[in-house]
Amino acid sequence: MNSSVSAAVPDEGRPLVTPRTLTLVAIAALALAWGWLPDFTVAVLSNIGLYALVAVGLVMLTGVGGMTSFGQAAFVGMGAYATAWLCTSPMAAGWALAPWIGLALGLALTFALAWALGAVTLKLSGHYLPLCTIAWGLSLYFLLGNMAFLGGQTGITGVPPLVVFGLSLATPRALGVVIWAVLLLALWALHNLLDSREGRAIRALKGGRLMAESMGVDTARHRIKLFVLAALLAAVSGWLYAHLQRFVNPTPFHLNIGIEMLFMAVVGGAGHLWGAVLGAALITLLKEKLQDVLPALLGTSGNFEVVVFGLLMLVVLQRFADGLWPTLARVTRRWVRPVAVPAAAVATAPLEQRALPAKGTVLLQADAVTKRFGGLVANDAIAMTLNAGEVHALIGPNGAGKSTFFNMVSGVDDPTSGDVRLMAQPMAGQPSRAFAARGMGRTFQHVRLLGQRSVLENVALGAHLRGQRGWLAAMLRLDRAEEAALLAEARRQIERCGLGAHVDTPAASLSLGRQRVVEIARALAGQPAVLLLDEPAAGLRHLEKRALSDLLIQLRAEGLGILVVEHDMEFVMNLADRITVLEFGRVIATGTPAEVQANPKVLEAYLGGADDELLGGAP
Ligand code: ADP
Ligand code: MG
Repeated sequence: MNSSVSAAVPDEGRPLVTPRTLTLVAIAALALAWGWLPDFTVAVLSNIGLYALVAVGLVMLTGVGGMTSFGQAAFVGMGAYATAWLCTSPMAAGWALAPWIGLALGLALTFALAWALGAVTLKLSGHYLPLCTIAWGLSLYFLLGNMAFLGGQTGITGVPPLVVFGLSLATPRALGVVIWAVLLLALWALHNLLDSREGRAIRALKGGRLMAESMGVDTARHRIKLFVLAALLAAVSGWLYAHLQRFVNPTPFHLNIGIEMLFMAVVGGAGHLWGAVLGAALITLLKEKLQDVLPALLGTSGNFEVVVFGLLMLVVLQRFADGLWPTLARVTRRWVRPVAVPAAAVATAPLEQRALPAKGTVLLQADAVTKRFGGLVANDAIAMTLNAGEVHALIGPNGAGKSTFFNMVSGVDDPTSGDVRLMAQPMAGQPSRAFAARGMGRTFQHVRLLGQRSVLENVALGAHLRGQRGWLAAMLRLDRAEEAALLAEARRQIERCGLGAHVDTPAASLSLGRQRVVEIARALAGQPAVLLLDEPAAGLRHLEKRALSDLLIQLRAEGLGILVVEHDMEFVMNLADRITVLEFGRVIATGTPAEVQANPKVLEAYLGGADDELLGGAP
C-alpha cells in the first residue's frame, strides 16, 4: 500500500500539514478573528461567502460535470425575490417565521424551474444549455424589472432580518456567520458527494455519455440533478443576500453578474470545490480595487472596469487553463498534502455476487441484425451467438461493419431491423445502461478513462450498479460501508488484472497498454457475464499481449462469454474458440480458427482487398 502511494507522489517525505488540518485551522482563525475584524472587512467577507456559494455550485456543474450555465444570477434573484416578496406581503409581515417560508418558496420555485429548464435542454447535446441559460438570465432580469407587484426597477424595500432562536441577525457581522456556516456546510456535503459512488458517476459525465451509460449511469438524470443542485445553491445565496441587504432590486441579478459568477468558478479552478472560494475572493477583491483605482487613472467618464476586468480574465485563463487552485496546490505541495488513509479501514460486507450462467448457455444472441445508414447497409442480417465460457472473435477488413455491430449488441445504437437478446431477454430500444444492468461489461476501441482520476476510481465506476446509495446519503456520509465494499471490489479487480502497483496512479500516466487493462478491470468490477472488448490488443507490447491473453483465458475458464473485435490475427487465432468473419456488412464465414483460416471466401476477402492482416499479423 505504502509503496504504491509514494510511487504516485514524486517528492517524498511527510507534509507539514494535511489539507484537512489546514482547513480546520483556517476556519478556527476566521471564527476567532470575526469579532475583531473591521466592519468593512466583515462586509466584504460576507459578500465573498455569498458569491462562493453560487460559484461552488458552478464548480460542480461546469468543472466536474462539464456543463455551462450563464444564468446562475437569475437563480440567485429567484431566491432573493421569493423571500423579499413573501416577507413584505401584508399577510406575512412581522411574522418571525416568514423568512423561512420565503426560503422554502424560493427553493421550491427554483427547483421546479431548474428541473423544467434542465429537462428541456439537457437531453440535447451541444450549446442548448448555455444558450438557454443566457435566455433565462436575461428574461428573469426584465421580468423582475417590469412586474409591479415586485416593485419594478425600484425593487422591494423593508425586508426583515433573519431571526434565529430569538436572535436578530441584522448586521453583516451576525449574518456573515450564518453565510459562512452555510458555505462550509455546502463544501463539506459536496466534498462528500464527490467522494462517493454517485460522485464518480457525476465525474463520468465528462468522460462522455457513451462511457458513462455503458457503466450503468443514467446520464440525463444525473445532469438534471446536477443542474438543479447548482440552482438551489444559488437560490440559498439569494435568500441570504436579501436578508443581508434588506432590500432587493433587479440589478444584481443581471446576466453580467451570472457571467462573473462563471468566471469565479473557472478562475478559481473549475474542478476544485475550494477553487470556488478562491475565485469568489479574488474577483470580489479585484472588482473592489478596480472601482477605486481606475477612475483615478482613466477618469470617470467611461465604464473601464468591465474592459480591464475582461482583459484580466483573458490573461488568467490563458495562463492557467485549469484555474488557480491546481497551481496553488502544486506550489504548496511540499508542505500541504493529503496523507493516504489505509484502505479498508471500515469493515466491509462483500457486495452481492451475480451467479454466472452455466457454461454453454447462450448469453448474447443476434438475429438478422441489420443497420442501414441512408443507402449504406453497414450490417446486413447478421446472426451470431455468444455462449458462456467461450471467446468469440469478430474479424473483417476495415469498414466491414464490426464497430457498427458492436454498437447494435451493446445498446449504443438501435438496429434498423432484427433482434438482439441478452440473457434471453429481448433488448429492443433499451439504452446501454440496461445492457450493463443485465450483465454486460465492455471496453472501448479508443480508451475512455478519466485521465486525471486514479486507477482505483476509474475501476470503481465499473461497479456503479452494484451500489444503491444516492446523493443525499453520500452528502451525509451515510454510504461509507457500501463505498468501502465498492472500493474493495475495485482493488480486487485491479490486482486480478496485474495492476496492483498502480491503484493510486492517475490513469492518464499509464501506458496505453495498461490503460486498456484498466478498462478491462473496470468492466470486471461490474461482475459481467458478457464481456465485449473492442480491439483490446491494439497498442500493446508483446509481453502485455501475452498477459492479456492469459487473463482472458482465465476469465473464460470462470465462465464468462467474451466477444472480441481484434485486428491482431496471431492474438485472435490463439485465443478464440469461434470466429465470425464480416465483409461489407455480411457474415462470410463462421467457425473455429482452423476452419476460418482454410475458408476460401475469407482468404479472398483478405487477399483480394487492400488488407493483408491474415498473412501479416498485426497491422
Ligand atoms: P469496422 O468497424 O468494421 O471498420 P464500421 O462498423 O465502423 O466498420 O463501419 C461500417 C460501414 O458503415 C462503413 O462503411 C462506415 O463508413 C459506415 N458507417 C459507420 N458508422 C456510420 C454512421 N454513423 N453513419 C454513416 N455511416 C456509417
Ligand atoms: Mg471499427
